Amino acid sequence: MTSPTRTSRGAGQYALLWAALACLGLAQLSAGSAVAAPAAAQQGVGVIEQSHSYLFNNSFTFRVEFEAELPIMNAYVFYQWPGGGRSWVYEGELLENRILDVQVALDESNQPPPFSEVEYWYRFADVRGQVHESATYSFYYDDNRYEWSSHQDGPFTLYWYAGDAGYAAAILAAARQGVQRIQALLPGARLSEATLRVYEDAADVQLIAGRSGISWQAGHSDPAAGLLLLALPPGAGQSLEIQRQVPHEVAHLMLYQSLGATQYARLPAWLNEGIAAQAELYSDPEAAALLAAAAADSGLLPLAALCAAFPQDAASARLAYAQAASFVGYLFEQYGQVGFGLLVDAYLQGSDCLAAPQQDFGMDLNGLQAEWAAALFEPKPQGAAAWLAAVPWQTILASAGAALVLFLVLRLSGRR
Ligand SMILES: [Zn+2]
Repeated sequence: MTSPTRTSRGAGQYALLWAALACLGLAQLSAGSAVAAPAAAQQGVGVIEQSHSYLFNNSFTFRVEFEAELPIMNAYVFYQWPGGGRSWVYEGELLENRILDVQVALDESNQPPPFSEVEYWYRFADVRGQVHESATYSFYYDDNRYEWSSHQDGPFTLYWYAGDAGYAAAILAAARQGVQRIQALLPGARLSEATLRVYEDAADVQLIAGRSGISWQAGHSDPAAGLLLLALPPGAGQSLEIQRQVPHEVAHLMLYQSLGATQYARLPAWLNEGIAAQAELYSDPEAAALLAAAAADSGLLPLAALCAAFPQDAASARLAYAQAASFVGYLFEQYGQVGFGLLVDAYLQGSDCLAAPQQDFGMDLNGLQAEWAAALFEPKPQGAAAWLAAVPWQTILASAGAALVLFLVLRLSGRR
């Protein structure tokens, strides 16, 4: 086996590797070697066969059978993953100077993110202090606790392990409908690709999201990776959850892929969540009652406080989602696709969360929220005022146009 010169790893990573080796007692490896590929005997160690296995969220096992000219004193496995920022090194057990076994117990720090590509290689130090390094191998770190089925349909790749083909079809149908509903709201929105991972247990989704560094606010999607995590527990409510979760998460991903990371980050949380809520085919059935109770109790949350993030406690979060959904629905109904598009655009241009509506709506976010609350929760006026309050302005304009036409027709006919 030769020791290929590595070009893929930077000097900084080597420094880390060698610092790790020093900790493991390989003091004979000088720090001066830290920026170059280690010196190695050309024919010192040859790999005959090597393999890896793993139990997701539990352990890695590496085993290599090798041929060495000299007795090997210490041998290690190194592994790393893209974006991990460092390599991990573990010393293994040597058997008869021909087999190396390495067991690695995985914890929060040394575990790659789920669904990532892991690179690994071996390093042997012989009795003369010479270092021999193997080629680099890799594997895909999947959640192998389950036997996944997969299906590809348009931009969607679905992975699931419970349920039949009908179940998978229902999920994909909900995903497609989510795309259509977002396009009705924002005609320019597109989805290029999405990977949907469906679990039964929400605890699994929490685990994967935590390991992937996905925040709770992101709704268990990793938009940069095009990954959506869904928890659909079996039982009576499952089909409703499909209709709620799937289009909602697809909507977030569509927004990300249509806007790009920078503009996506400019969407206030209430707008992002409110848009996603419009994609849902089934929503929180108690949302209306929740909003009415909060309004009656002066307990509505100021939307201006929901710009950066949503509250962490479950009750406030539920109210925040209900408000965002209702408010965005109201804006779209009241100001139409064009008016709503202008507001979204103001935010995408980087306008201040509170002031963004000012230019096109003549009032700030607090003003718009007051208008929404008045329309939804204040006693309705009677007579002509009720009609004016209840009818969106485009309808009013259309009606005014119809009245004008009628007026002209009547005048013309009156002349006869
Ligand atoms: Zn969401």
